[in-house]
Amino acid sequence: MNIHSKSNAPVLDSYWMPFTANRQFKAAPRLFTAAKGMHYTTDDGRRVLDGTAGLWCVNAGHGREQITRAVEHQLATLDYAPSFQMGHPIAFDFAERLAALAPGSQDNKLDRVFFTGSGSESVDTALKIAVAYQRAIGQGTRTRLIGRERGYHGVGFGGITVGGLVNNRRVFPQLPGADHLRHTHDLERNAFTRGQPEHGADLADDLERLVVLHGAETIAACIVEPVAGSTGVLLPPKGYLQRLRDICTKHGILLIFDEVITGFGRLGAPFAADYFGVTPDLVTTAKGLTNGAIPMGAVFASRTVHDALMNGPEAAIELFHGYTYSGHPAACAAGLATLDIYEQEGLLTRASRLESQWHEAIHSLAGLPKVIDIRTIGLVAGIELASRPDAAGTRAYEVFVKCFEKGLLIRVTGDIIALSPPLIVEEDQIGEIVSVLGDVLRQVS
Ligand code: PMP
Repeated sequence: MNIHSKSNAPVLDSYWMPFTANRQFKAAPRLFTAAKGMHYTTDDGRRVLDGTAGLWCVNAGHGREQITRAVEHQLATLDYAPSFQMGHPIAFDFAERLAALAPGSQDNKLDRVFFTGSGSESVDTALKIAVAYQRAIGQGTRTRLIGRERGYHGVGFGGITVGGLVNNRRVFPQLPGADHLRHTHDLERNAFTRGQPEHGADLADDLERLVVLHGAETIAACIVEPVAGSTGVLLPPKGYLQRLRDICTKHGILLIFDEVITGFGRLGAPFAADYFGVTPDLVTTAKGLTNGAIPMGAVFASRTVHDALMNGPEAAIELFHGYTYSGHPAACAAGLATLDIYEQEGLLTRASRLESQWHEAIHSLAGLPKVIDIRTIGLVAGIELASRPDAAGTRAYEVFVKCFEKGLLIRVTGDIIALSPPLIVEEDQIGEIVSVLGDVLRQVS
């Protein structure tokens, strides 16, 4: 089938694409039909280097046979079992494996795992756990949720409420009572940083101000991405996350790290909580959990949070929450095989070994016209371009299209380019990413 030919146009009509300019896309579709290792193949047979691990999820690279075989075997053995009031061993096995990897110290490990179907579901689950926990410990007035400007926490009503993406919030109503910290992005003081920026730890004190404004007794939880990804790779200033942790502890507020992107090795440690040495009370994950092969998310909870609910006021079901696909057997099989690969190939720490080379390579793009900032950490980079007057986002979008034509997949958000290759990336492929991107940046500018 030639999807580009006009006679096949109806083929594109029925699928209402998510977060896509549908009309624009369907006028000039870009389609992948296969993937292996670091590369996609397009419908017209071109190879495209994956500079974004799909949508930050294919950490072990594409087409991993171990995962395929595990899923195939699981579907042939037990395709589905009810997730409520019934169990199946593989969900318990996967949770045990995850618990061993969970962030936190020996005496405070987040080793209680609630399965969901996506990052958005993980976020709304964590927010609900936080509110239910407060009620279980006799703090039922604590229902307020604190997020952060320029945070992205998926698309559920909870997630868009605590998120700070205006386009995500403009159209839809929000949960009542939420408030936001300021974001930590500071081009004036922190431009072109490698790793954590120097300035801005004091922005965590916004939480103290919100405590004064609203009263601690109204606040259930504060959620942040340790590194904000989807809104343009915004890094936490040195000391910022620890300060948030201290303020939360002082006021009985649960701290939630949204690690849907940073979880499973993106920064060079299993979780950003490990990388930054700060232990939250809840961690949300998805994406790299199953290498993107089967949709799945997981919330990691501390024992304190978990046990409070197990001993809480509800006589029967301790947390009135769950999904048909919580702990889906095929997803658990994919997840277990993914963890095997991560362990066998040392992928959860590989970014730490590549980090200095990554910094060097990406920062070599500094000085190109219109590049106003470059930020790198782990195997993530944000490259910010000056916006065209009255046409914000068009410059980066043009870079995205031209990179795709030249065989490189990048991701853009506004005028920020985000890079996050699979963790199997080789040094020469990092070179290729920088070389293609550099060529395109010179052209576009
Ligand atoms: N939280 C964060 C930090 C994310 O980056 C994302 C997705 N990019 C989500 C939540 C939502 O995940 P999903 O698209 O799987 O619902």
